[in-house]
Amino acid sequence: MLRFHNTLTNKIEDFQPLAGNEVRMYICGPTVWNFAHIGNFRTFTFGDILRRYLKYKGYSLTHVMNLTDVDDRIINEAAKQNISIDEMTAPFIDAFWEDADALGLERPDIAPRATEHIAEMIEIIQTLLENGKAYESDGSIYFRISAFPEYGKLSKIKFEGNIVGGSERVDTDKYEKEDARDFALWKLVDESEATGWDAPFGRGRPGWHIECSAMSMKYLGETFDIHAGGIDLQFPHHENEIAQSEGATGKLFSKYWLHGEFLKIENEKMSKSLGNDFTLRDIINRGFNPLAIRYLLFSVPYDKQLNFTFENLKGAETTIERLHDFKKRLQDAHLPDGINTDLQEKVRGFLSDFETAMDDNLNTSVALAALHNLVREVNTALAHEVVCTEDRSFILHIIDKFDSVFGIFGESKEEILDAEIEKLIEERQEARRNRDFARSDEIRDQLAEQGIILEDTKDGVRWKRK
Ligand code: AMP
Ligand code: ZN
Repeated sequence: MLRFHNTLTNKIEDFQPLAGNEVRMYICGPTVWNFAHIGNFRTFTFGDILRRYLKYKGYSLTHVMNLTDVDDRIINEAAKQNISIDEMTAPFIDAFWEDADALGLERPDIAPRATEHIAEMIEIIQTLLENGKAYESDGSIYFRISAFPEYGKLSKIKFEGNIVGGSERVDTDKYEKEDARDFALWKLVDESEATGWDAPFGRGRPGWHIECSAMSMKYLGETFDIHAGGIDLQFPHHENEIAQSEGATGKLFSKYWLHGEFLKIENEKMSKSLGNDFTLRDIINRGFNPLAIRYLLFSVPYDKQLNFTFENLKGAETTIERLHDFKKRLQDAHLPDGINTDLQEKVRGFLSDFETAMDDNLNTSVALAALHNLVREVNTALAHEVVCTEDRSFILHIIDKFDSVFGIFGESKEEILDAEIEKLIEERQEARRNRDFARSDEIRDQLAEQGIILEDTKDGVRWKRK
């Protein structure tokens, strides 16, 4: 039985979807104002492992992850560059998906953008205004925390004496813990400002929290199974999502809440504002295989903090290479015909260890240990020449089962690099066909810089490394 640490109840609970075999899950996505850093990607990798394991268990899954494509930072930056917010976010949305692909993150089934769901947000705000859980002040609309007595049930923060009424509030999404103030649902926007939407309660733009209430309920219904995100979203973001959604519908919003712990660096949270962040691009430019980062990010269970160092990244890369070598050796080995049932029994046991660990609130470090035990056992059996042909296909099948969740046996770094080089060579051929010799020379120089020598032969272009 799959069990989760539900941060709503603060208990380990059996996972029981609301409707049969169907799981509806919402994970808070990136704010696309910049490149995501590998701390952000630790949370998204946790989401991917969760997604893959739910599918592994045979659930039919609807997984929604939003893109926050409007907030103060985006609006300010767009205004500074004198471009629209769409123009401002477009390259970062592309970059996000590119990075996600490199990390082997499966795409969510639906990836809604906040700016395309303003009508749904307005509708919730209307309901809250009508039922007295929201009020207008100076043209903006605020959630009335005092009208939602369960406020605080997710974060377990006590708010007595802290909640201020209608007249006092802070006009920002970001505020300090235990300084709970009524939060903005809709912020007044001046006619002169480029970014704004018309609403029955005036021209404005949505607060951050209302975006996720609107997009999750639109695609998953008023009550759904799992809501996940990084631990820093628990308060105020998720607390506020609950208040708005349950305040509007009167129904439970999400049954299970899962929060991923931080990626730290030198014992501080990795974050752009502290300037201690690395993007995936930074890491790849240093020559690392993105799968090594993926491995590192989930090697520690999602609910434990992980400290990033280049030392442990190197360790992850070595491990990945060892795993790839192992698989290749097994595939290429000359084996006797037949079957070794003892060995198959042990290998099946490792898969069952993996499942037990993953069922235990996604304990990925114990689950990975099961894979390493499998590799050790099969290596020993190979050395003793007691692996037979039928065992090979069985073991490869079991490795595929592990990898349907881990996603680390993808193409090796060499294969990825080879594919990139071949793409460039193809582009150079195309440039030459179009008599664009400047571009073709440019590509040749670029390849030369990477130590790639091209040879034009009568059978086409050959390449080799210096
Ligand atoms: P943002 O793009 O700022 O909305 O954040 C995207 C996701 O990354 C959220 O779920 C955050 O909780 C998460 N996050 C931000 N910093 C870290 C970190 N250092 N470690 C793990 N997750 C993080
Ligand atoms: Zn959210």
